[in-house]
Amino acid sequence: MAHFLDIIDQDQIKEHMQNALKTGKISHAYIISGDAGSGKKMIAGVFAQTILCEDKKDVDGVIENCGECHSCKQAQSQSHPDIRIVRHEKATSIGVDEIRQQVCDDVYIKPYSDHKIYIIPDGELMTQQAQNALLKTLEEPPAYATILILTSNIDAFLPTILSRCIVFNLKPVRDDLIQKYLMEKRQVVDYKAQLAVSFAQGNVGKAILLSENEDFERLKNGAIDLVSRLGRTQISELIERLQTLLSPKEGSEKKMDVILTNDFLDVLLFFVRDILVYKAENSADHLIFADKLSYISSVTEKCSYKEIDNILMAIERARARIRANVNSLMTLEMLMLDIKENL
Ligand SMILES: [Zn+2]
Repeated sequence: MAHFLDIIDQDQIKEHMQNALKTGKISHAYIISGDAGSGKKMIAGVFAQTILCEDKKDVDGVIENCGECHSCKQAQSQSHPDIRIVRHEKATSIGVDEIRQQVCDDVYIKPYSDHKIYIIPDGELMTQQAQNALLKTLEEPPAYATILILTSNIDAFLPTILSRCIVFNLKPVRDDLIQKYLMEKRQVVDYKAQLAVSFAQGNVGKAILLSENEDFERLKNGAIDLVSRLGRTQISELIERLQTLLSPKEGSEKKMDVILTNDFLDVLLFFVRDILVYKAENSADHLIFADKLSYISSVTEKCSYKEIDNILMAIERARARIRANVNSLMTLEMLMLDIKENL
């Protein structure tokens, strides 16, 4: 169940959509542009459901869908006959035939209600031919049609497409708003919410994923546990633990996951920043890993600023090597030895 009130920030977009709903002047084509996880699908879904709702409500000046009428129920179960989501077979492109069949031809079949809404996820994957086919529909759409193109790359569109669409750019959301949302609406505890927000960089979807992802929690605890035992761990054991920690699934082949490896470096980076912050402020108020306070305070006493700086540089070196496709395990092993030397 989603409403305009659930869309965090993005005031400009909400205002535009609200105006369209209030005046009944809904455009024929919109592009919603933003990174993966930034909320494109959610916003398109709220807009579509509200356009079609049979019993719209005015909630303190905001037009919302009722969430209960037949149309809303169908929209929520993704079975609304007048909300058409364009699917594509290939992972890397949306072909001209797919656009023709699912949009250009389909659009002339009259809707069950008084609107017919097309949502095209991954719009940037449309081939040039597909975009040209879509353009014909955008030039002369039936009165009841609205097309919502979602994309993470606005540069992939023909200028002729862009000129016929209202373009919304999703902006990164302020950290405090995301944190409030996680704690109030999703009952995430404060330190977890703060950690997820620090990693998500304004991306609400990523923050939700991180705050509810057990893999991330496992990675965080594993990484800090690994660092705290460095002094007592043999190299062979260290390698084994790294492999276990960074393999996508328990028991799967021991190929380390690139995303996990990058997240692992992020965890280390934030952890070292905490050590730095604690050293400077001598207070736990601004720590991301507040739950590891006793360890952080013990390390801080032993570590000089120079040593902390050495560790930060070693983490960045490791990141550069992994970006250049140097063997991950070897890179992390070297990093761990660098950390051990300075901690
Ligand atoms: Zn409704």
